[in-house]
Amino acid sequence: MRTPIIAGNWKMNKTVPETLDLVREIRKLLGETPPNVQIVLCPPFTSLWVAKNGLGRSGFSLGAQNLYHEPKGAFTGEISPVMLAEMVTYVIIGHSERRQYFGETDDSVNRKVKSALAHGLKPIVCVGENLAENEAGKTLEVVGRQVRNGLAGLTAEQMSNVVIAYEPVWAIGTGKAATGPGANAVVAQAIRGPLAEMFGQEVAQATRVQYGGSVTPANIAEFMAQPDLDGALVGGASLKAADFVEIIQVTAEAKA
Ligand code: PEP
Repeated sequence: MRTPIIAGNWKMNKTVPETLDLVREIRKLLGETPPNVQIVLCPPFTSLWVAKNGLGRSGFSLGAQNLYHEPKGAFTGEISPVMLAEMVTYVIIGHSERRQYFGETDDSVNRKVKSALAHGLKPIVCVGENLAENEAGKTLEVVGRQVRNGLAGLTAEQMSNVVIAYEPVWAIGTGKAATGPGANAVVAQAIRGPLAEMFGQEVAQATRVQYGGSVTPANIAEFMAQPDLDGALVGGASLKAADFVEIIQVTAEAKA
């Protein structure tokens, strides 16, 4: 049984006071944290500390949105895994916005994943094809390559701390989500398939894979009805407490 994981990627949103407000509102609306769903909030670096304090005994986990692969040194403006390990459990790596705007590649993703794991962090590794690749029928090839390159050199043991997020780039922030069966097919073929070849069938079946891309309270049930999808990486809707809480609650029911 894979525990579903709902992660909120706040991107570059929320000041410190706004963070505290949103964390409090989410906790108040949710009430008891469902025991069968793991909840992760990923605010900006500047809000991690206040978010950690605001989470208290909620059982939520905290995640960062990026890291630099070196532990310390002359890398102005970067944040290291050593610094993050004091504060967070998870770290998003290789989000399509980082690939698109900050030149991240499968190689840099691989370095970051290894560095995160070496410092006790659990990476949420993002993969997904863009619109042109999708329209050219290259989805399986692109996603498969991102999985193989991004996770190259890891051990089967390390894979128990890795979460993968399948996020078709054309679905992120566009309001045009994939379909549940469509996303499930990509995950089964282009993610669990390569995982089985790289690490064995057991790891392929045990690894948690989220869907991401315009997830809302209206479509989460369709995704959570799919056998290969284990939660969601939520962008826009994670900034609205009521929406995020409903996404958590629907997931808890669907995967009960
Ligand atoms: C994301 O940022 O990973 C994401 C999926 O965003 P959105 O939910 O807004 O599409």
